[in-house]
Amino acid sequence: MPSLREDAISSPPDHATLDPQDWDAFRSLAHRMVDDMLTHLSTLRDQPAWRAMPPAVRGSFNEPLPSTGIGSEAAYRAFVERVMPYTNGNIHPRFWGWVQGSGTPLGMMADMLAAGINPHLAGLNQAPALVEHEVLRWLAEMLGMPSHTSGLLVTGGTMANVLSLAVARHVGARAAGFDVRADGLQGRHNPLVFYASTEVHTWARKGAEWLGLGHRALRLVPVNAAFQIDGQALREMIRADRKSGLRPFCVVGTAGTVNTGAIDDLELLADIARREGLWFHVDGAFGALAYLSPALRPRVAGLPRADSLGFDLHKWGSLPFECACTLIRDGVAHREAMAMTASYLAPTARGVIAGGLPFADRGLDLTRNFRALKVWMMLKAEGVNHLTRCIEQNVRHAEYLAAAVEQSPDLDLVAPMSLNVVCLRYAPRRATQTNWDAINEEIVIQLQERGIAIPSGTVVNGHYAIRVANVNHRSRQEDFDALIKAICELGKSLSASRSIA
Ligand SMILES: *Cc1c(COP(=O)(O)O)cnc(C)c1O
Repeated sequence: MPSLREDAISSPPDHATLDPQDWDAFRSLAHRMVDDMLTHLSTLRDQPAWRAMPPAVRGSFNEPLPSTGIGSEAAYRAFVERVMPYTNGNIHPRFWGWVQGSGTPLGMMADMLAAGINPHLAGLNQAPALVEHEVLRWLAEMLGMPSHTSGLLVTGGTMANVLSLAVARHVGARAAGFDVRADGLQGRHNPLVFYASTEVHTWARKGAEWLGLGHRALRLVPVNAAFQIDGQALREMIRADRKSGLRPFCVVGTAGTVNTGAIDDLELLADIARREGLWFHVDGAFGALAYLSPALRPRVAGLPRADSLGFDLHKWGSLPFECACTLIRDGVAHREAMAMTASYLAPTARGVIAGGLPFADRGLDLTRNFRALKVWMMLKAEGVNHLTRCIEQNVRHAEYLAAAVEQSPDLDLVAPMSLNVVCLRYAPRRATQTNWDAINEEIVIQLQERGIAIPSGTVVNGHYAIRVANVNHRSRQEDFDALIKAICELGKSLSASRSIA
C-alpha cells in the first residue's frame, strides 16, 4: 500500500478538493438545476399525483459503490431520470394522504442558501444563531406563549414531542425526589407514568420506550364520540394510579389527532394538569397552527397554557422537510434537563464561541443545520397573515368536501369533520352490498395507482375509511370535486364487478 505522501506525489499538481474544477461549468449546471426544479414545481398540476416505479428504475439502485466518480453532470442526470419522478407525491396539489406537507419554492431556496453558508448551529457568535433565536421568539408569539419561552428547532414533530417529554420526565423525577440525569430510571419502584388519549400519535409510545420509561408508562385514556380525551376517565385513572403507587408526571393533549383531526379539550386538560400538579404537554404537530386564525383559535383554546408544545413547520407550515419546533415555557427546567458542558466547548467572552452553545444545550444534537433560515425567510417574505390564509383555506376546503360527502347518496362521512381531516366511505344507501371495507380499500389504491389523487386509508370505529387530510397549500376546490367524482366512479365499477363475482 503506497504511503499518502507517495500518492500525493503521483497525483496531479493541483490540490485535492471537492469544489468544482471548473466553476463556470458548475455554475451553468447549477442554474439548470434551479430551472429544472422550478419547471417541475410550476407544472405539478399537469403531472400524475403519483407514478408507480417501473421495475427497471427500481432495479437500478443496485449499483456497486462508485470508486471513481462520474462527475456532477452525470450524477444530476441520474437524479432527474430515476429519482425526481418517483416520490410519494406529497408536493402534488391532490395529495391528502397522511398529514405531510408540500414544501414551498422559497423554502427550497432557503435550504440551498443555508447549506451554502453551512453554519454550525450549536449556537456560537454568529448571525445564524440570532436568526434561530428570533424565529423561536416569533413562533412563541404566534402561538400565544410568553416571550421568555425557551425552544428549539428540530427535525420533526416526533422529536419535538419526545424532547418535551424528556424535560417533563426530568421535572417529574425531581418532584419524586430523584435525579433522572444522574440515576436514570434504574431500579425505581414507583414508576413515572403519563397520560394521553387512545388517539395519540405513535411518538408517545416510541418516546416512552426511548426515554427508558417503557411504553406501559403511557397510560391511554379513552375518548368520547368526538375522539377527544375523556376528562372524567383521565381524573379517575390518575387517582387509581396514584393509589397503586405509580407517579403521574405529565398529561399530553393533542391538537389535531393524526387519525381524525380531533382536538382534545385543552382548557380542560390544562385545568386537570394544574390541579394534579402535572406537566401539561400539547402535541400540536399540525393542529397548533390553527391558533393563527382568529376563526379557528377557539378550537385550540388552552393551547398557550401548555408547559411544552411540539409542532411541525413542515406540515401545516408548508416548509420543506425537516422542520419542527419545541417550545418550553420554563427555560430553566429546559436547560437543567438537557445542558452539558465540555472543556473543548467552554464559552469564552469573545471570539467565535462567545455566547456558548445555547441550542446544543436544549436538545440532543450538537451539530445542527441552519433550518431556522427557511422559517425566517418564509415569515419575512409571506408574513403570518398569508400563512394564516392558506391554513384557513385548507379548513374551508375540508368543510366543502365534508358537505359534498353528506349530500351525496353514495358517500358517508364516518367521523365528525374536525379541522381539516375528512374520513369518508363509498357506501350507497340504496345498495345491499355489505363488503364496503374491501371496496373502499381498493378505491384508495386505484386513486393512487392511476395518479388521480392521494388520499390514505384508516380504520374508524372498526371500518375502513378513506381519509383526506388537507394541509396542502396547492389544492383548489376543483381538486376536491375531482376526488369525489373519481371515488364515486371507481366505487360504482368496483361494486358492479364484485357483485357479479
Ligand atoms: C405528524 C404527527 C406527529 C409526528 O410528526 P413528524 O414530523 O412526522 O415526526 C406527531 N403527532 C401528530 C398529531 C402528527 O400529526
